[in-house]
Amino acid sequence: MNIKNSKRPFIIAGPCSAESEKQVLETAKQIASYGITVFRAGIWKPRTRPGNFEGVGSKGLEWLKTVKQETGMQLTVEVANTKHVYEALKAGIDILWIGARTSANPFAVQEIADSVKGMNIPVMIKNPVNADIDLWIGAIERFKKAGISNITAIHRGFSSYTKSIYRNEPMWRIPIELRRRMKDIPIICDPSHISGKRDLLQSISQKAMDLNYEGLMIETHINPDTALSDAKQQITPENLKELTDNLIIRHRKPTDANAPENIETLEELRTAIDEYDNIIFDYLKKRMDIAKNIGKVKKNSNITILQPDRWNEIMKNAVKKGNELGLSSKFVNTFFEAIHQESILQQTNIFNKTDKR
Ligand code: PEP
Ligand code: MN
Repeated sequence: MNIKNSKRPFIIAGPCSAESEKQVLETAKQIASYGITVFRAGIWKPRTRPGNFEGVGSKGLEWLKTVKQETGMQLTVEVANTKHVYEALKAGIDILWIGARTSANPFAVQEIADSVKGMNIPVMIKNPVNADIDLWIGAIERFKKAGISNITAIHRGFSSYTKSIYRNEPMWRIPIELRRRMKDIPIICDPSHISGKRDLLQSISQKAMDLNYEGLMIETHINPDTALSDAKQQITPENLKELTDNLIIRHRKPTDANAPENIETLEELRTAIDEYDNIIFDYLKKRMDIAKNIGKVKKNSNITILQPDRWNEIMKNAVKKGNELGLSSKFVNTFFEAIHQESILQQTNIFNKTDKR
């Protein structure tokens, strides 16, 4: 597997889980007929709660050997401990991948890295479930230190408590930051686990391409509706073909030969800005809700809306903090003045509301 020098997008496809020899073989044959060269399948499945389908275990490796013999595809499975690594390597698995629950655990990552020390095996590392860039980078570094040179990062989104259209929030700014900090690590997107459902796969995959990702890992099943895990997000091989045919692949860099190497693209920078703007709005709303509650308390305690001492103190602290962060006093003043005006307006509305009691 040589993702860096391959034509974009480099595609990895296959079912969430291996379920039967027939299922993996039929899926693989069709995927291979489209020129896709790497087949994925989960053998040991990390489930949130026991009792759910936990994978077929080692016997699935035998089925995968047949896939390799019959299609010539390279194979990749998720490994979560040293026993998995041992069995996968014994079965001739070509590429290992570290799942999102495992990459969140440095002890587990270190053990797996030690078990492949000095070996010539490619490793793909999914982002940890929690939105912690250093944890992801740390997992990559552990494999680098173990002498693994062919490392790929997989972006599969992050757990979040807030309600969202995504199963896992993409938080594009995090892989963008990973790219900035580890320029030589290829990144592939796993839109299946980000979306959790079929209808978002195309747009997430397109976004990943616009952000210069090297490839995509997409869960593909010969009969998705009957899948034993992640049924809602898996697609048929035909749909996979349609999805990849519909992708628009733009130039990675300005065609200007003098353009600096590795410059972040406008799309990357704009995506990060948009996400931070959303975060600012989210916090402005939260702040305003609290200001309204303060309005109610002031009304009930019969005190005035404007409390100059308190406001002067907020402003003084804000300017100090802003200056420490390289923001001008003028900007901080204007920004907080606007927030304050809006708070006063909202509190005034509360004061003016006639009590129905
Ligand atoms: C998977 O790829 O099927 C899987 C379990 O992924 P993740 O580790 O991203 O949840
Ligand atoms: Mn899955």
